[in-house]
Amino acid sequence: MGDFEPTRRAVLPLLGLPLLAPAGAQAFEEAAGWADQRDARGASVRRELEKAVGTKLVLLGTGAGPVAGRARQMASSLIVRGAKAHIVDCGLGVTDLFMRTGVPFRAVESIFLTHHHPDHNIEYGPFLLLGWLRGLPRQLAAYGPPPLAQMTTDYVRAMAGTTAMWARDFHLADFSAPQVHEIPASGVVLHTRDLTVRAVAVDHPPVDLALAYRFDFPDRSIVFSGDTRASDNLTALAAGADILVHEAIHLPGIERQAREQVAGGLAMTPADFVQHIARAHTPIGDVGKIAQRAGVGTLVLSHIYPDDVAAEVWRDEAAKVFKGDIIVASDLTIV
Ligand SMILES: [Zn+2]
Ligand SMILES: [Zn+2]
Repeated sequence: MGDFEPTRRAVLPLLGLPLLAPAGAQAFEEAAGWADQRDARGASVRRELEKAVGTKLVLLGTGAGPVAGRARQMASSLIVRGAKAHIVDCGLGVTDLFMRTGVPFRAVESIFLTHHHPDHNIEYGPFLLLGWLRGLPRQLAAYGPPPLAQMTTDYVRAMAGTTAMWARDFHLADFSAPQVHEIPASGVVLHTRDLTVRAVAVDHPPVDLALAYRFDFPDRSIVFSGDTRASDNLTALAAGADILVHEAIHLPGIERQAREQVAGGLAMTPADFVQHIARAHTPIGDVGKIAQRAGVGTLVLSHIYPDDVAAEVWRDEAAKVFKGDIIVASDLTIV
């Protein structure tokens, strides 16, 4: 982490200038300093990442569903290994949460989207644009189901007036689209010397194609379920993984929410509301079974719904079957 520089950090925002990435700045320097006093959680993550050896996972947003203003932000995660970083999903809040980790934008090599529900993709474009102002690499790669290419092109076009003005004003290279790799079906999507990423189709009706991802690094394997009901494809993908990040629902909590929402005017019956959610997601008891069957080391629960179910309840339900470590993630949990 760099030295605290009160003058530069205090003055630039007052002038309305963007905090452009300073040339030659060290990794983890950008978001540090001024934020430490008011963001204890972010500061703690930054300290852990600074001393980290090997691959680290940060759960950024851990909430479920496209409703703003809740205690948990929408789905997003960060993997950091040395000077390289990867983002998985871009729900609302991803950019702020990413900044709080202190990882510089220039470290981001790739973005992976699991599917095109808004709680997973709504801040994809803004992350690209705000990252462009702070050194996001031009050779960035983006992976996800179709129509990711169209979404990316259209976002760049939609913001062209704004970005052209900024590019002129601050002598920046043009805002351009990342290299998009649409994933139409299960398979290996990335293979480099120290990372292989595989995707499989999971079951998340009515979404046409929802993906789970497995990241294999030399020291760690991490699997993300994305959104899915209990999925054999996911169980097979996760076989022997060190970490499985899995979504979960708590049916009694959803039944309670259903009654409250219908009483509040929702035009559905409580049973239909429960069915709408239950047909596309995995009850916590089944998550424990999947983790045990796959033989993973650590189960991380993220994208959990409803928000107000206590962490012990999630843990106890999963632990009825799963005998490994269980982490009930909250925003900015680091593993
Ligand atoms: Zn979701
Ligand atoms: Zn979804």
